[in-house]
Amino acid sequence: MSGVEESLAELRQAFKSGQTRSVSWRKSQLRAIIDLVQDNEENIFRALYQDLGKHPVECYRDEVGVVLKSAKYSLSFLEKWMAPKKGRLPLLFFPTSGEVMPEPLGVVLIFASWNFPLTLALDPLIGAISAGNTAVLKPSELTPACSSFLADTIPRYLDCRTIKVISGGADVGGRLLQQKWDKIFFTGSPRGGRIVMSAAAKHLTPVTLELGGKCPAILDTLSSPSDITIAVKRIVGGKWGPCGGQACIGIDYLLVERKFASTLIDLLKLTIKKFYGEEPQNSKNMCKIINKAHFERLRNLLEDPAVAASIVHGGSLHEKELFIEPSILLDPPLDAEIMTEEIFGPVLPIITLSNIQESIEFINSRPKPLAIYAFTKKDSFKRQIVSETSSGSVTFNDTMVQFLCDDLPFGGVGQSGFGRFHGKYSFDAFSHEKAVMTRGFFPEIEPRYPPWNGFKLRFIRLAYDFDYLGLLLLMLGLKR
Ligand code: NAD
Repeated sequence: MSGVEESLAELRQAFKSGQTRSVSWRKSQLRAIIDLVQDNEENIFRALYQDLGKHPVECYRDEVGVVLKSAKYSLSFLEKWMAPKKGRLPLLFFPTSGEVMPEPLGVVLIFASWNFPLTLALDPLIGAISAGNTAVLKPSELTPACSSFLADTIPRYLDCRTIKVISGGADVGGRLLQQKWDKIFFTGSPRGGRIVMSAAAKHLTPVTLELGGKCPAILDTLSSPSDITIAVKRIVGGKWGPCGGQACIGIDYLLVERKFASTLIDLLKLTIKKFYGEEPQNSKNMCKIINKAHFERLRNLLEDPAVAASIVHGGSLHEKELFIEPSILLDPPLDAEIMTEEIFGPVLPIITLSNIQESIEFINSRPKPLAIYAFTKKDSFKRQIVSETSSGSVTFNDTMVQFLCDDLPFGGVGQSGFGRFHGKYSFDAFSHEKAVMTRGFFPEIEPRYPPWNGFKLRFIRLAYDFDYLGLLLLMLGLKR
């Protein structure tokens, strides 16, 4: 047996023993995650700095704080989520009880992406544990310091017979995918999502795919100068703030009316300078590009001559530091790769429209995004965006904050993925809702059995219509 198979056999045995079903096991593991993160805050900051150049404040805002909040939230609601819910049954079945009982799925596999290496590993794991599963976590090979941190600390803090970390790249991912799992939770690229889904099909394994795409932001004309200032800050925060533009729900491109474009560009430049200084490459406040391959990918996007001609701010590349200056493009060609592929980097294309209403058609002519952001004070426009577009989420007048709300489902639609997580949605993602029905032996309804006749057909018809008076009259021979 290979290491992977051995680990899986051990996890399956542990699941069979029933220990992960108990509230006490689930709570102890959630508390262990809290301890792991709290005890090692400095180590986490160091690993995230090493892999991504993340500032400690950003580390706390997007990773440490998010995981702690999520684990504490699950701890406080766990018993409520685990409790069976009464199902409403038709009177016809009286006396019968019906319940919806959540049960763990079994042994689950979690693939994490590299841009939020702690959050995207531990947040789904919190869901898997809360729902009572055993789990394998496969961190991304692109963040080696964070991956070894997880591989090192998880067995020290969590129950290593029930939770395992298996590190490695696509080869290890491929070996894991050859096994039979009870659920695969994957965060990564649409390309990776396709690989996962076809492997899962072999065993009919359910999957959650948290993928990416191009998230648009719409900026409507705002009349108040302070609203404009706030909108621009939130746009800069949503583009360059999280992981230097390498975020699945970061703004990919911005839609704005033509007449407002030059004012907007001036305001964006001012805000970028305020956040990252005159020389952003020397700033400690913005992440670097994850690796050389992604740096080259972004360089190629920017070096397309038609795209290069559209640069109105930034555009300098610092290969040694793997740093790309916050860059703004004005109306790059719509068929250029930068407008057809997810950018996942610190470059913001601004697309101008003659009327902001056209943004809806623009978005609808592309794959469904993970998030849509819209800055507007018009209720009718908000309603139109919600009802006429499709996306994982819509956030009005802010960016990124939807990720922090445990009561809102987080997930994509169409090409941005399917399934959802966070809070109770994570619990549900790793649970099966089992219907449990308990009947007595009386009364026995004979018309459900053959031999069939016209009376039985009339009886069943009335029963399915819940026509109790009709049924009574039929039984008394007063109705045909
Ligand atoms: P990726 O698909 O390259 O890798 C994701 C995981 O899959 C990694 O653990 C990797 O080792 C593994 N993997 C890669 N190729 C594999 C193969 N052939 N066989 C088996 N396993 C394989 O994605 P990435 O570069 O880590 O992440 C970037 C993408 O993730 C972007 O598209 C981004 O939008 C998306 N993302 C989505 C979310 C979300 O919550 N929806 C969050 C972060 C990132």
